[in-house]
Amino acid sequence: MQTDKNYDAIVIGSGIGGLTTAVLLTKIYKQRVLVLEKHFVPGGQTHEFMRVKNGKKYHWDVGVHYIGEMAKGVMSRKIFDFVTDGNLKWNKMPHFFENFVYPDFTFKQPANPKEFEKALIAKFPNEEEGIKQYFKDIKIAAKWFQSNSVSKLMPGWMYSVMNLFKKDNSGLALSTTKDYLDSIIQDEKLKALLTTIWGDYGVPPSKSAFVMHSLVVRSYLYGGYFPVGGAGAIAENMVPIIEKGGGKVLTSCNVKEIIIENSKATGGKATGVKFNKKDKEYIFFGKNIISDTGAYNTYMKLIPKDVNIPFRDEIKNAMDDFSTTTLYVGLKESAEKLGLKGENYWINTSYDHDETFKKSKNSNEISSAFVSFPSLKNPKAKSHTAELITFSHYDNFIKWKDTRWLKRGNDYIEMKKEISEKLLDFVDKYIPGLKDLTDYAELSTPLTLEYFTEWKKGSFYGIPATPDRFKYKWVSPKTPVKNLYLTGSDALSIGVVGAMMGGVFSIAAIKGMKGFMKIMKEIG
Ligand SMILES: Cc1cc2nc3c(=O)[nH]c(=O)nc-3n(C[C@H](O)[C@H](O)[C@H](O)COP(=O)(O)OP(=O)(O)OC[C@H]3O[C@@H](n4cnc5c(N)ncnc54)[C@H](O)[C@@H]3O)c2cc1C
Repeated sequence: MQTDKNYDAIVIGSGIGGLTTAVLLTKIYKQRVLVLEKHFVPGGQTHEFMRVKNGKKYHWDVGVHYIGEMAKGVMSRKIFDFVTDGNLKWNKMPHFFENFVYPDFTFKQPANPKEFEKALIAKFPNEEEGIKQYFKDIKIAAKWFQSNSVSKLMPGWMYSVMNLFKKDNSGLALSTTKDYLDSIIQDEKLKALLTTIWGDYGVPPSKSAFVMHSLVVRSYLYGGYFPVGGAGAIAENMVPIIEKGGGKVLTSCNVKEIIIENSKATGGKATGVKFNKKDKEYIFFGKNIISDTGAYNTYMKLIPKDVNIPFRDEIKNAMDDFSTTTLYVGLKESAEKLGLKGENYWINTSYDHDETFKKSKNSNEISSAFVSFPSLKNPKAKSHTAELITFSHYDNFIKWKDTRWLKRGNDYIEMKKEISEKLLDFVDKYIPGLKDLTDYAELSTPLTLEYFTEWKKGSFYGIPATPDRFKYKWVSPKTPVKNLYLTGSDALSIGVVGAMMGGVFSIAAIKGMKGFMKIMKEIG
């Protein structure tokens, strides 16, 4: 491979977290950054893939269905504009962007918090007080998250002084979502409705932290957005910035080890990485090494075992096998024909999300689905597509865990065919005509997600969003190893914006609070 072996920084993984860190180091600090990506395309979960049928090209976005807080002037939008040089455009979804379907009612969420609150009160008038309290509390919990995250970057005494006269809201933020809702709302249907979006953070109400629920709900209060040109446009607009600054984004490079000097001592110092490309091993060096591969991969796989990491057991025990099974569908004609405008569908056959979660643990029966129509959200889409997602568990597919992608055997193909048909039939009952419109369908399982993203057992949200996640000191961009940092979702929070902010926070960890202020100033 003809390329320099020494860089200012090496980023492992090209997800939105990795690319954000790389662009910020390039643009603000004029550094030469090398990004190494295992997959053959960059972008991580924001990557796009394509299939051709009868000359027609269908494109799907793996991990982007909608993103909140992308209105002009909002901080997350300003950061996205900065890291894409303003070249990435956003399309707003329809006003009623969520369609929650339950056995005896449907509810459409408007892209306005006041309207949303009013519509909830109109549907559940006896719960008016609880609903009003809920809207206040999600803001309080989300605010707690901000100060808790910043606290991980500053000395403990400084944080204590800053918070001397502030109310401690950790009790509220770190309740489970179920405990919190049980304390203010009686109606089980309303509790179910408010937590329909638990799939956006992957942990059902009895296990999720209320702060995680609050962050996601708050992010969508003003509606959902989709990148114009599809999710692939994110990496497409970020990679050239890194390369223009003298850096490189290399794909099909599987990092096997982070090189740590004095590794036997506690801590040590990261100096480079060992990686494989086409069966050849390479060693490259960087002044800082930043991992976008999540806490599990970084601490359990990439840091050599003889480096003393005191929380390895905690990481091992924190992991779950929650994942998804997704049917990528190519449509003969636009789904507008079915009366759809690009809104998401959340289809539920039960009001008990914990029960749905439990059921999906032992079987591939379908009792809920999330349906998204990427082509209706992307004005540049050239063909019509849908994505049908059902929550799923890796262990349901464990039989094939040692097989390779595309070579998993006929029984795997048969099983996928069966799930595909069941999922399409299930969704067709609620969106009649979708099955007839289907031209192409391909199923991905948690094994696919693990293979392409390297997240253990396909658990693509990283460390599960339970109250414990927010207590672990190591869910942070800082690591005990000198010059080694985390970026992406396990550095801060989940989802595209959470992982992107993880990229910003990793710079704050590298450059200190001054660095954080510098980024904020540059971003405006
Ligand atoms: C089906 C699905 C739907 C989703 N929908 C939404 C949504 O609508 N909205 C939203 O905000 N979020 C959504 N998400 C979540 C969101 O996409 C992720 O939280 C976010 O993109 C994670 O970014 P990241 O940078 O932390 O990690 P990733 O994007 O996972 O990037 C990590 C990268 O590291 C690479 N890597 C791992 N190990 C190595 C190694 N050893 N060597 C080299 N490279 C390595 C991986 O290949 C990967 O490219 C969804 C995710 C999925 C899977």
